[in-house]
Amino acid sequence: MKSAGQRNRASASSACVAATLVAAVLQLTATRESTADTPAAAEVVVLKAAHLFDSTGTALREGSAVLVRGDRIVSVGTAPQPPGARVIDLGDATLVAGFIDAHTHLTMESWDKDYYHGFYNRMMRFPAEQALYGAMYARRTLEAGFTTVRNVGAWDFVDVGLRNAINAGVAEGPRMLTAAHGIGSPGGHFDDYSFPPERVKPWGRIEGICSGPEECREAVRYQMKWGADVIKIAASGGVLSEADPVDVPQLTPEELSAIVSEAHTWKRKVAAHCHGDAAARLAIQAGVDSIEHGSFLSEDTLKLMKAKGVYLVPTRMAVYWVEKGVDSYPPQIAAKARAAAAAHGRMFQAALRIGVPIAFGTDAGVFPHGMNAMEFGLMTELGMSPAAALLAGTREAAKLLGVDADVGTLEAGKVADIVAVPGNVLNDIHATEHPIFVMHLGHVVLNKAEK
Ligand SMILES: [Zn+2]
Repeated sequence: MKSAGQRNRASASSACVAATLVAAVLQLTATRESTADTPAAAEVVVLKAAHLFDSTGTALREGSAVLVRGDRIVSVGTAPQPPGARVIDLGDATLVAGFIDAHTHLTMESWDKDYYHGFYNRMMRFPAEQALYGAMYARRTLEAGFTTVRNVGAWDFVDVGLRNAINAGVAEGPRMLTAAHGIGSPGGHFDDYSFPPERVKPWGRIEGICSGPEECREAVRYQMKWGADVIKIAASGGVLSEADPVDVPQLTPEELSAIVSEAHTWKRKVAAHCHGDAAARLAIQAGVDSIEHGSFLSEDTLKLMKAKGVYLVPTRMAVYWVEKGVDSYPPQIAAKARAAAAAHGRMFQAALRIGVPIAFGTDAGVFPHGMNAMEFGLMTELGMSPAAALLAGTREAAKLLGVDADVGTLEAGKVADIVAVPGNVLNDIHATEHPIFVMHLGHVVLNKAEK
């Protein structure tokens, strides 16, 4: 056993380490702020390209330039080049606003090889390990042109830590809005596996698992207490969970209204994972802001979403990827995956026809991080126009996230989150999968145009 003196020394030295870390972070923040606050020191950059899609409408402009000072866009169009400006000529490329993915899981990559690899990846990583992987995935996502993500579910508050580290400049990644643990019912899609409760402690409110309106209200409060920007719920069952049917409601109307009212009171939006139609109707009636996945939504429910301005986040990439790996899944999961995939395409086409607001979201982490832009092509394959797909991944996703005052379009005054993709993007939407240039907050993250 340690003596009292040893314990005191140990705690004094760890307090000292903590104080040093805090001081280092504060110093780093102060350095960044002082450069940002000095307009004279802010670099002026002119980005030139053959085409520009500014996301204020569906048109492509020719021969345009974007003038950036510090972390903001000063002007878009045929801007004069101030003396001393750094000119980056991207040639035959299209300048677009930084992409926004409204559905990621940056701290995990569960399904990279097959179901069983995924199981071990998910269950066996320590929080510190998850954080290190998360930092790598975050950088990969940013280099793929995604300058903002809404991260909708993680364990151990590792996502909150990753967001804070990115904001403090100690990790490189996109702007993150994050949900911490998803809120769901015991035995439901967000609950832990049915390990014997004597061996593995069952999850509770801190882990987002709750029964009854007051417990669910508390579960929401816990996520917000420890840093959630958005609340994620499991309104219906899911595909990649073993015990639950995919389409049935998993929260009662009373639980849903407690969750939504608590989140909205704190000015947090609510994203509902939902495949089933009855579950979606309950969630929409309770006031959620988006339906994620939406496989079995009926036309009537889609019309209700349009009427109430509830976004669909389709996650076609999750459907595509899960279908690809379906043979490696346990039979009960494979059956759910096939049923959801068969329904999802028809639902998406009905949503397009009805005019439901659509925000781009992929479920990154179900597939390897960095492939997010494949979602653009998957949406256009089902009849969405390339311009509408780009708007879903920029302006519309920014509106859903509530960050549209700062990002989502290329306009004077917006944050300088800018991507260039080769050629004319409206002629080939797959160009989004190979960005040649990425700028985030005015910093050049990737530049393949200048060697
Ligand atoms: Zn997800």
